[in-house]
Amino acid sequence: MPTIDNFNFENKKALIRVDFNVPLDENFKVTDATRIASAKPTIIKILEDGGSCILMSHLGRPNGVSSEFSLQHIVETVSEVIGVQVKFIDDCIGEKVEKAVAELESGEILLLENLRFYEEEKEGNLFFAKKLSKLGDIYINDAFGTAHRAHASTTIIAQFFKEKKCFGYLLAKEIESINKVLNESQKPVTAILGGAKVSSKISVIENILEKVDHIIIGGGMTFTFIKALGGNIGNSLVEDDKLALALEILTKAKEQNTTIHLPVDAVIADAFSNDANIKTVDTTKIPDGWMGLDVGPKTLEKFATIIANSKTILWNGPLGVFELENFSNGTIALGNAIAEVTKNGAFSLVGGGDSVAAVKQFGFADKVSYVSTGGGAMLEMLEGKTLPGIEAILR
Ligand code: AMP
Repeated sequence: MPTIDNFNFENKKALIRVDFNVPLDENFKVTDATRIASAKPTIIKILEDGGSCILMSHLGRPNGVSSEFSLQHIVETVSEVIGVQVKFIDDCIGEKVEKAVAELESGEILLLENLRFYEEEKEGNLFFAKKLSKLGDIYINDAFGTAHRAHASTTIIAQFFKEKKCFGYLLAKEIESINKVLNESQKPVTAILGGAKVSSKISVIENILEKVDHIIIGGGMTFTFIKALGGNIGNSLVEDDKLALALEILTKAKEQNTTIHLPVDAVIADAFSNDANIKTVDTTKIPDGWMGLDVGPKTLEKFATIIANSKTILWNGPLGVFELENFSNGTIALGNAIAEVTKNGAFSLVGGGDSVAAVKQFGFADKVSYVSTGGGAMLEMLEGKTLPGIEAILR
């Protein structure tokens, strides 16, 4: 795997696709700089080699040029996080930008304006990619969050850097972590799939069935399985058009010798609210007017034992509506169980938007082996797809 460790950047200009699509508050201040901090090791290696960095990213979903989505808003935060005052240029292609790049000295960093101010970025336009490619000697992709998109700066651009393209540390670590779970795992391997819907995780389940020993199901998708098996799920979330598929998955799992574990009890509520009345019942006996919003204590005991005996763990999706305190218990207990087994030497990978939010919110981020920075990208890799941004570097 070609990484930045294969190159010496002395007097070289490194053109780095980063994912600085960070959240901003109403005053355009960065509220979570995790994504910037994640790119720091790559940037520091280049500066320490004696090179310079040209950083390119998108921010939000602008419709043409719009000051609201300017990367100017994040310059100070990037400078603080990296520890170097970052220069900014209010465009990402063209003569003005090329001049700023030419004037950039070793040890300096230049941040380009939002790539998505040009529609050509998302279209994967070849000419736009070629213009971008003029801005560096070596192309580095360190943006896992957009690696599943064949955009100009994430994929198309790579063809202009024949031998001079590689993964940054962040992207390399993401690939390595997923490989550790799917292809080079120590057994037993347990995947925990939670979240709202079966439909968004179906391809993941199908792809990992033959690679893992246990699949723990949680969250809203539980009830599609329970209903398919004949249980009463009351008013719980359900995808009626996926009932047959749920049964098919259970059959396939048996054929593969993979055990699917469904919650045996649920914390149910008479409304989707923290103020609702709650009680704990068997998952198959939920009365009408009530909905399952978290897993119950018997389930947690069962899941904790499976996790304690696992050597490799993948966690995607919360076990309940963790955003509401009364239904966060299952997700917190699961995080604790994963933290414990990680401490004892297991490898644990957490990925997918909401589970990442949950591990951060409950303080587990540094107690698991790796927290992925890409939601959609991670899901596509788990589905067994080759991501265009990764393939473009390897090609
Ligand atoms: P996903 O993006 O598919 O991982 O879904 C995450 C969302 O699923 C979170 O916002 C949770 O609140 C929600 N969720 C988890 N468990 C349930 C449940 N039992 N009923 C409804 N929503 C749930």
